[in-house]
Order: sequence, then C-alpha cells, then structure tokens
Amino acid sequence: MSDKPNWSRRTLAAQAMGSHDATTGAIVPPIHVATTYLRDPDNEYRSGFIYGRPDNQTVREAEAVVAMLEDAEAALLLSSGMSAATSVFLALAPGDHIIAPEVMYWGLRKWLQTDGVHWGLSVSFVDMSDLKATRAAIRPGKTRLIWAETPSNPTWSISDIAALAEIARQAGARLAVDSTVATPVFSRPLTLGADIVMHAATKALNGHSDVIAGALATARKDEFWARIETNRRMLGCILGPFEAYLLMRGMRTLDLRVRAASATAFDLAQRFANHPDVSEVLYPGLESHPGHAIAARQMKGGFGHMLSIRVRGGEAAAIDSAARIRLWKRATSLGGVESLIEHRASIEGPGSPCPPDLLRLSAGIEDADDLYADLDRALRQAHGG
Ligand SMILES: *Cc1c(COP(=O)(O)O)cnc(C)c1O
Repeated sequence: MSDKPNWSRRTLAAQAMGSHDATTGAIVPPIHVATTYLRDPDNEYRSGFIYGRPDNQTVREAEAVVAMLEDAEAALLLSSGMSAATSVFLALAPGDHIIAPEVMYWGLRKWLQTDGVHWGLSVSFVDMSDLKATRAAIRPGKTRLIWAETPSNPTWSISDIAALAEIARQAGARLAVDSTVATPVFSRPLTLGADIVMHAATKALNGHSDVIAGALATARKDEFWARIETNRRMLGCILGPFEAYLLMRGMRTLDLRVRAASATAFDLAQRFANHPDVSEVLYPGLESHPGHAIAARQMKGGFGHMLSIRVRGGEAAAIDSAARIRLWKRATSLGGVESLIEHRASIEGPGSPCPPDLLRLSAGIEDADDLYADLDRALRQAHGG
C-alpha cells in the first residue's frame, strides 16, 4: 500500500501542489522571467530549459495544478482561451472534418467558420444535446474531432460527455471539451472519456478578471498532443510567466470561489424563475432546463456560476434593465469574483443563436440578496414598475 496521502483537489490547489523555492524555503515560488538559460560546458542543457518560448518553470508549476485538477496526464498553458482552442484545431490536418455545437463560445464558432475553413477544415455545426444528430454528422474516415462545450454559451445547454466520447471512439475521432463554465470543481471530462479538455483560464480558473490565459489538459501524451505542443512552441503562444503566477494564485482559491458563485447562481435562478418581468431562466440546475438530468449526472456538487434570463419586455427592456443596474458590472466575460451582466446578442452580432431578450449573468462572490435586489429593481424599473 502506498503511504501517499489521498489529498483532495481543493487541498492540493490551495498549496499549489506544494511548490516552493528550494533556495530560500519561500512558500510562494518565485516568478521565473528569464528568456534564456546557461548551457553546460559540454554543450548540454541538463536543466531541461533552453529558451523561454517553448517552456518556463512558472508556467510548468501552474500546469501541474491544472493537470491535477483535471486528472490529466499533462497540461499546457497558452496565451488565451482562443489560442488554446485553435492550437487543437491546428493540430488537425487540412481536409479533416470536425463536429462542433451550434451553441458555443461565439468567437470560436466564428474562427471555425472563417479561418478554420480557410485552413482546410470542414465543420458541421449540430445540436450537440441531440446525440442522434451528432452521430448522423459523422463522416466515416473523415471526422477527426468532436468539439463540445458544456454548459454552453449562452443558453447553458448540456451535452453528454460520456456518450459523445463513445460516439467519437467508434468513429476513430477524438473528443475535446471546452469545460470553462463547468470548471474542474464540478466536472472532469477526461474521467468521462474525453481526450482533451480546454479552459478559457481567463475565466473561473484565474477568477479575478486580470489575466488572459488558456489551458489544455490531455488524457494521454500521444502524437496529437505532441502536435499541439509544437503549435504552442512554433506559433509562440505560451502563457507569460507573470500571468502564470497570477493564474496559480487564482487557482489556490478556485474551489471556494466556484462553489460560492455556483450557490448564488442557483439561488438567483430559482428566484428569477418566479419574477414577473422574466419569461424564462436558463440554468442547468433548474429541473425545467432540458439538460438538467444529464447535468445532474456529470456535474458533481454544483451546476456552475452562469445563468441567463429572458426579459419579458423583449430586447429593448433587456438592454434597459442592464442599463439600470448598480451593483452588477455591465461587461463581457465571466468567472470573476465580481458579478457581470451582459446583453449577449449585441456582442455576438448577426447569425448568433442567442435570443435578443437574453441577459447573461455571471455570478460572483457578492451577497446573493444584494445581487437579487439590484437586478429585481432594474427589471421592475425597465418595465415601468
Ligand atoms: C472566454 C471564453 C473563451 C475564449 O477565451 P479567451 O481567453 O477570451 O480567449 C472560450 N470558451 C469559452 C466558453 C469562454 O467563455
């Protein structure tokens, strides 16, 4: 029997996996900023470090935390969520076919439709909560990747990771999951059969709205992963050491922040579901949500910090309500300690599946009663109350 304690993710993340400075004993490791490293007299690089673009010790320390959180064999940190996702797509070959969800992070959908196609990928967008539709979109021998996002922006539709992994396996394809909104606190796609998990670490992983970063974690270090590593090295999109340091600091409190924000999101979802000026609340924690049963199975301990409300008075009333808030911050993005509200259709532009009366809410860690009161007042005022 191993005498290695079976410490939880929360414990390991709080101490950044025990990383410290060996020289001074400092319990917060230093930020390694060097771009180049001394070569040994016999021309070797025994430290394993040669140059700052392929690798960095501060980045490695943060990657170890991400890999631990995701039960992954390895993780990579990149300069943004977009660079993480596109590094996966660019590891495919021109001519390869991808299946992606109709409802997904709009920036990535746009990239796939334009640059992804320009680069030679063909992409089928399907309703990924519909397994039959997803299976029907497989092109035998051509489909190399299923890209899922769950819960997915901005309706928080849920896709069944284990079932998608099986569809991908039968087709000889890989499954990659954008798990930004679920976070590793509630869902670990690799344990459900996914091959790769991606995070906009800009969001909940960092959690303080002060770092742009992306993370990838893999079930196994195979040749596909090696191509992703090559992309990061050759396209030069490794995360900077200062950002990696901040991200590691953010991840120390990930569990606390995400559980608090998720409890608030659930509370707000239940209260706004009975609000006279709200026609619908979209939140996977509600039994009325079409993905609730699957979410309850594959998300353990919470349904996430993101919800959307549809405003009864339509688009103008939605925009007017957002204009009247005082406590929520009217801004894009998500996953920070401060709660954000956004009229999402204005950001996504034409061709977006986002309903025009939808307000997207990112719950932070403020008092839930304060958040409810502020938005309740704004909604009532916008509806002439
Ligand atoms: C923000 C976001 C991205 C893109 O991340 P960036 O760090 O802004 O590049 C991708 N997917 C989801 C779900 C996101 O919320």
